[in-house]
Formats: sequence, C-alpha cells, structure tokens
Amino acid sequence: MAKVAFLGLGVMGYPMAGHLAKAGHEVRVFNRTTVKAEAWAEAHGGGFGATPKEAVEGADFVMCCVGNDDDLRQVCLGEDGAYAGMSSDTIFVDHTTVSAKVTAELYAEGQAKGISFVDAPVSGGQAGAENGVLSIMCGGAHASYDAAEPIMQAYGRSIKRLGESGAGQLTKMVNQICIAGVVQGLSEGLHFAEKAGLDGRAVVDVIAGGAAGSWQMSNRYETMIDDEFDHGFAVDWMRKDLGICLDTADEVGASLPLTALVDQFYKDVQKLGGSRWDTSSLIKRLRAMG
Ligand code: NAP
Repeated sequence: MAKVAFLGLGVMGYPMAGHLAKAGHEVRVFNRTTVKAEAWAEAHGGGFGATPKEAVEGADFVMCCVGNDDDLRQVCLGEDGAYAGMSSDTIFVDHTTVSAKVTAELYAEGQAKGISFVDAPVSGGQAGAENGVLSIMCGGAHASYDAAEPIMQAYGRSIKRLGESGAGQLTKMVNQICIAGVVQGLSEGLHFAEKAGLDGRAVVDVIAGGAAGSWQMSNRYETMIDDEFDHGFAVDWMRKDLGICLDTADEVGASLPLTALVDQFYKDVQKLGGSRWDTSSLIKRLRAMG
C-alpha cells in the first residue's frame, strides 16, 4: 500500500479520495475550504494538510482534481504549492480537466524538479466517481503511468495511456466534443416530443435500443423530462471544457462548427441561471424559447 495525497475534494475528488482510503492506502487530503478536508479525514480515518505542500510531504503519489487551469497552477506552484513539498520520487497525477497548455507547463516544471507528471482527466461523472468506475485518459512517460495505474484502479474501471504528456487531455477534449452534439440532439428530440403531444417516456422506451440510442438518452431522459438537472457536471465546467476544445481546435487546425454552436447554447443556459445545472439542461433553453 502507498502513501497518497489527494488535492481537491469537490464532487469528484471527495469520493475518489474515499476509494483510495477504502483500498487501504494511507491518504492525506487537502481542500481549499479546510472544513471539507476535516470532514473527509474524520469520515475516512485519514489525515489532512492545511496547504497543498503540507498534504503532499512524504507521499509516493499525489492525485489532484480541482477546477480549471488557474486553480491547478495555484495548487501546484508557489511556496505552499504541491511542487514545493514533493520529492523526485513523487508521481503527480492530475485528474482536473485542463488545457494542454497548462499541462505542458506543469510537466516541464516537474521535469526541472525531477517530479513525474501524468495528465489523467476522467469521465463518468459524479456517479462514476462515487461508484469507483471512472474512465481515465492518461498522458505521460510510460514508467510514471505504469506506477500510477494500480493506484488509480481504486476508482477507475477503464484506464488507458494514450501517449506522451498531454495525450490524456486531448482525449478528454474528444470526449467533450462528442458529448456536446449528442446532448443537443437528445434535447431537441425530447422537446419535439413534448410539443407534439407524445409521451416522452414511451418514445424513449421504443427508440433507445435502436440507432438513436445513447448513454445520454438512457441515463438522462427521465430527469430531462422531469426538468431536474442536478447530476453534478455543471454547465460552467462544460463551457470551460468546450472553450479548451475550441482553442485547441484553432491550434491543430480542426473544424468544430457544432461544438462552437452548442457552446453558445450553454452560454444561454448560464444566462437562464443554470451555471450549476448539469449539462442535460440544454433542453431548458429550448423550453424557454417556446
Ligand atoms: P467542484 O465540485 O466544483 O470541486 C472543485 C474542487 O476544486 C473543490 O475541492 C475546490 O475547493 C477546489 N478548488 C477550486 N479552485 C481552487 C483553487 N484555486 N485552489 C485550490 N482548490 C481549488 O468540481 P468537480 O465537479 O469535482 O470537478 C473537478 C474537475 O473534474 C473539473 O476540472 C471538472 O471539469 C472535472 N470533471 C468533473 C466531472 C463531474 O461530473 N463533476 C466529470 C468529469 C470531469 P473548495 O471546496 O474550496 O471550493
């Protein structure tokens, strides 16, 4: 069993860190809002640090799941940051969804200090984190990935190295690009059914097993019909992710017209007050339009 630090106890991080403790690892956590770290430590019999530096000292592995690029820089860098507390044997695994740019920065900064950095964004949402069945898309050196993979098994079901540093984040971008169009299509289908006077549940029952079916359809149609949007992956996070996808598409010369359009639709959802609604709330926008 390993000494593992976990930084960021949000919707995803709190249960992920819990799985590490349940797997028998010695876990020390850090959370910006310390009361959450205290509660986690009490519930799981682990420890917590007042700063990232304090939490990571002596750890073999440091896992991190915060919000965006700037949050990741804040947690890693500076005199109280994680990098100040890690030794050259430590492997840092970042589960935050961030840009390829910050990943390259922190990978290089790590190399200068002898710290290994694995980018490892996740998909599977809140339920995936709570049930320990996340998909984890990794980039980084073979040896660092091979060492970290058994630790990630505590909360991952499908874990894969896609290439050198940054490949995990690029794969997560593909994931988000694919989801954006599917959610909009499902929203339009359910909205049309409502307007046409059909029973949405009966419609999904008959079409979900055919070519129109999707994970989104099977797992979100009921709450979309019921106008409930509290599945955890917030619209603000989706806009962050789509922004990263669109910036990267410019850099690599890819054309993402549908992704750009759906990003604007999510902007409308934010204006409706939906920043923390889950991503299936695109249907709210259609309902608001009439
Ligand atoms: P969340 O619930 O908002 O939690 C964010 C965590 O990051 C909190 O622990 C927060 O601390 C911490 N944090 C934010 N800014 C910070 C800063 N500047 N310094 C230190 N700590 C900071 O977010 P989440 O839903 O767990 O998502 C985390 C990441 O996973 C995001 O990149 C998201 O895109 C990605 N993701 C989420 C899902 C999902 O379904 N939720 C699925 C796949 C990927 P406080 O408690 O102090 O606010």
